[in-house]
Amino acid sequence: MIQSVNHSIPAFDIKQQYSTIEAEVSTAVLEVLASGRYIGGPLVAGFEQQFATYTGVTECIACNSGTDALFLALRAFNIGTGDEVITTPFTFIATAEVISAVGAKPVFVDIDATTFNLNVEQVAAAITPKTKAVIPVHLFGQPVDMTALMDVAEAHNLVVIEDCAQATGANWAGQKVGSIGHIGCFSFYPTKNLGGCGDGGAITTNDPEIAAKLRILKEHGQKNRYYYEEIGVNSRLDSIQAVILQIKLRYLDIWNNQRRQVAARYHQFLNQVLGLITPQELAGGMGVWNQYTIRVLGNKRDLIRSQLQERGINTMVYYPHPLHLQPVYESLGYKQGQLPVAEQACQEVLSLPMFPELLEEQQDQVIYNLKDCLA
Ligand SMILES: *Cc1c(COP(=O)(O)O)cnc(C)c1O
Repeated sequence: MIQSVNHSIPAFDIKQQYSTIEAEVSTAVLEVLASGRYIGGPLVAGFEQQFATYTGVTECIACNSGTDALFLALRAFNIGTGDEVITTPFTFIATAEVISAVGAKPVFVDIDATTFNLNVEQVAAAITPKTKAVIPVHLFGQPVDMTALMDVAEAHNLVVIEDCAQATGANWAGQKVGSIGHIGCFSFYPTKNLGGCGDGGAITTNDPEIAAKLRILKEHGQKNRYYYEEIGVNSRLDSIQAVILQIKLRYLDIWNNQRRQVAARYHQFLNQVLGLITPQELAGGMGVWNQYTIRVLGNKRDLIRSQLQERGINTMVYYPHPLHLQPVYESLGYKQGQLPVAEQACQEVLSLPMFPELLEEQQDQVIYNLKDCLA
């Protein structure tokens, strides 16, 4: 195995992927520029249709970001003041932020130690008469056990809003994420599995009434031209992003398979290494590895991370602080130790370099150096 790192290895690399589709993308973008049609129009509608087909739903509504997708989803189901929404404390802030933004209260429950995803038994235990919805996050590209979660949700009449931001293309029991709950929310932020060249997002559902409501809400609450029945927002996907996403969607399965190969190779060489725990895929799901996140044991995560950094290997910590202990949620009254699995994950997680174009030699360097630092 190669020991020295001649060129540093990034945690992710979006420039390299662009270079493989540069000709296609630049031609298409120039056509949009020449067309003068920058907002809405057939390119956005075309992408919505293609993404609905890909996800296996009847409706797709494009919007400005994954955050807006989640916000609009809550609004479409009339979730607001006085309502509680259950979610995970081990996620990006956007998942919880939107609950607060609509005036509802986030209720954090602990995660499962193996998958880093919401613990479904704890969801069931946290339901009160005020609970309206649950937001499962398919974290790092690994799908939540949606069979178990939908059983709990149906028994209590809860809306299930899937946060699919890190999991475009993943499936649970043969169904794509974003088609299993009542509504799916996607982000096309550049580093996601399907990433644009700027901000972007989409909402998927099989409910035509909710879809119609979403189309009104994302256009300033405009029901008919210049006629408004409720307060909405401006949340559009622009035509340049739509055409880029149309092109990239055609490669998504290939790229996701490459990520799966990278993950399989990491697993093969790291699975038995003392001092770390590799991520495991649940039997019913197929993940898409937005991140390959190990646990470094023995309080050594930050040390190992800086040693790898010195050797030119870049890693990330998603996420260093659980949301229930963030200053912004102090008023909710959570205490240290209350959600111990999530809290411990924040101390131990380390996301290794992961992108479809990562070479085997580069992976070998990551593996060799990680083992060497741990030894
Ligand atoms: C990226 C992300 C979002 C937000 O998406 P944006 O497009 O950046 O607004 C929401 N939830 C999770 C889990 C994410 O990773």
